Amino acid sequence: MSGTAVNVPVSRADAARVAAWLEDFARLSEPGSSEGVTRLAYTALERKAHDVFAGAMREFGCTVWTDQAGNTIAERQGREAGLPALATGSHLDTVPHAGRFDGIAGVVAAMETARIYSENGIRHAHPMRFVAFAAEEGARFGQACTGSRIVSGLTRPDDLYGKRDADGVSLAEAMRSIGLDPSAVAEARWSPDEWAAFVELHVEQGAVLESSGVPVGVVDLISGSTRMLLKVTGRASHTGGTPMHLRADALAAAAEIVLLIESIAGDFRHRGTRATVGRLDAAPGSITTIPGQVRLYVDIRDVDSDRQRATAGEIIARAETLCARRGVRLSSRLLADTSPAVLPAWLREVVAGTCAELDVPHRIMPSGASHDAQMINNVIPSGMIFVPSRDGISHSPEEWSSVDDLATGIDVLAASLLALDRLLLDSPELA
Ligand SMILES: [Zn+2]
Repeated sequence: MSGTAVNVPVSRADAARVAAWLEDFARLSEPGSSEGVTRLAYTALERKAHDVFAGAMREFGCTVWTDQAGNTIAERQGREAGLPALATGSHLDTVPHAGRFDGIAGVVAAMETARIYSENGIRHAHPMRFVAFAAEEGARFGQACTGSRIVSGLTRPDDLYGKRDADGVSLAEAMRSIGLDPSAVAEARWSPDEWAAFVELHVEQGAVLESSGVPVGVVDLISGSTRMLLKVTGRASHTGGTPMHLRADALAAAAEIVLLIESIAGDFRHRGTRATVGRLDAAPGSITTIPGQVRLYVDIRDVDSDRQRATAGEIIARAETLCARRGVRLSSRLLADTSPAVLPAWLREVVAGTCAELDVPHRIMPSGASHDAQMINNVIPSGMIFVPSRDGISHSPEEWSSVDDLATGIDVLAASLLALDRLLLDSPELA
């Protein structure tokens, strides 16, 4: 892989500047949300964050535009005309009461990469594009990665009317409220003629790097997820009047299902599967009524797509047996199903090779969470760089990564994109 040698000196990332940008973004939070950062998908606050990104990128000499999905794209011109772009980026929206790193770290990494290239007069053959994706978090509409799904052609205009937030606002209405045209999302599609490869830096959201003392992860697989709604129907009746042996208690059955799911995922044949009941609604919800109906929301993650779907099947089959034994009924509905992604090995080798050149220890590892890169990989080859998360915590105000680790990750990112620039000039057939 001599074509990937890092022979262009790249000045190092500036941890203080990275910290200052993270602080700027963290300040853009819903007023009154006392704990952590709240900046939900397709809100005015998310747009403000995109404006901060756009302003910085213009200062670094980039041409900036926003597509019909609300993604902000900044381009630094390449040396040669007609080549497809190399790209990096992540997202700027958050879950409610989030930390300040999930997604934002990757956008700040893109900004710092652009600064390093600009201030050092680095010339690359391919255009470099720095992307802030919109609406990555599924917290508001129940669909993750909306901005990157749209550019990958995975979300059609019709899909934008079906998904609604807790207030009943559809994705399409939210998009319109911030000046986007949901009927024109097809225009945002990325074409492989125009885009060559994508690398996303993200915080790990797990404790593998921290516990192994390795500063950089290079991702090989991204988990898929199968989401199901299980409905248990029993019989609501008086808690005092109904003897124990004559009950059809939906919540007692649901409790057994929760433990069943935990034990199935913990079984050795499912090593690597993660299955969770994240929400459980019991009706009628009265202390003096035996619960007649319970809804369980199940999320199954796996890096093995067969095992992911087989786990879902096993959960339903065994839960049906359990419900029959308890005299309650079970029905199930598939809410969402995303396959795991295998990221291309050649791109991973470029990033791993860059780590070696920079003397940065790394490990190859899977991602349990879904990411924009997973969607983008459907259109163009994509890679991911992980930086350590303190105690593995994410989607919480406690989420933390050190800016020194981030700066190390950015050094790898900035050099990897230049390595890709040279490699694809020699071997354009790779992309
Ligand atoms: Zn994220």
